[in-house]
Amino acid sequence: MHAPTRFMVLTLLFILFTASTAIASSNIYIHLLNPHYGSGGHKHPDLNCLSWRLAVETNNLQNWTVVPLACKDYVGHYMLGKQYRQDVDLVTAEAYEFAKGLNLAGDGMDVWVFDIDETTISNLPYYARDTVGFGAVPLNLTTFNAWLEEAAGLAIPGSLKLYKKLIALGFKIVFLTGTEEIHREARTKNLKAVGYTTWEKLILREAGDGTGVAYKAKKRKELEEAGYRIRGNMGDQWSDLLGNNAGDRTFKLPDPMYYIG
Ligand SMILES: [Mg+2]
Repeated sequence: MHAPTRFMVLTLLFILFTASTAIASSNIYIHLLNPHYGSGGHKHPDLNCLSWRLAVETNNLQNWTVVPLACKDYVGHYMLGKQYRQDVDLVTAEAYEFAKGLNLAGDGMDVWVFDIDETTISNLPYYARDTVGFGAVPLNLTTFNAWLEEAAGLAIPGSLKLYKKLIALGFKIVFLTGTEEIHREARTKNLKAVGYTTWEKLILREAGDGTGVAYKAKKRKELEEAGYRIRGNMGDQWSDLLGNNAGDRTFKLPDPMYYIG
């Protein structure tokens, strides 16, 4: 009886060990698959910055005033790294594919509307400052306007390439910016310095023009009332693209650094 008992105990131990290992493994497996937030958990309140950026770009997040502090480095890496440039290049390439398929009347009234900041000119040297933190610090209009007056913004390569190709196709260019009229000289100087050398109109914001969607829509309406046809419209803010007279097609460039409603 002794030997079989011993055998049975060993067998039982083996079965228990195997079963417990399997249970332990499956627990680990289940744990890894557990979402880190949601359904009852609220275990990890930290923000997923990629999800935040996607929500910003799709206009699901609105009226935000600063980049969440937890995403400051993420936004900085995105803007300074390859991803931002590649994201812009894809949009501008698609815009060109669309533009070259359009039939222009040849009367000089087919226009392409470009916003300026973060659409044709990049203010990254300003936004990369420690005091600005890629938009994680609340906007300081005094230092931003001083930066505008420096006329030291950079061309956004994909947009400059598109701009040149659109002109070659026969489009007239209209720059429509929320920048105030008092900065016209600096903006003109900056545009020309980085390669945007010609345009049909450079529209800046005057007192009483309103802001955001209302301002841009009003100016686009005036353009079309003057006989221009807005064939394409490109901006980094949804407020560049929403509202009346938006154009035959709109193109949204990425901008996770600030929101203009
Ligand atoms: Mg802009």
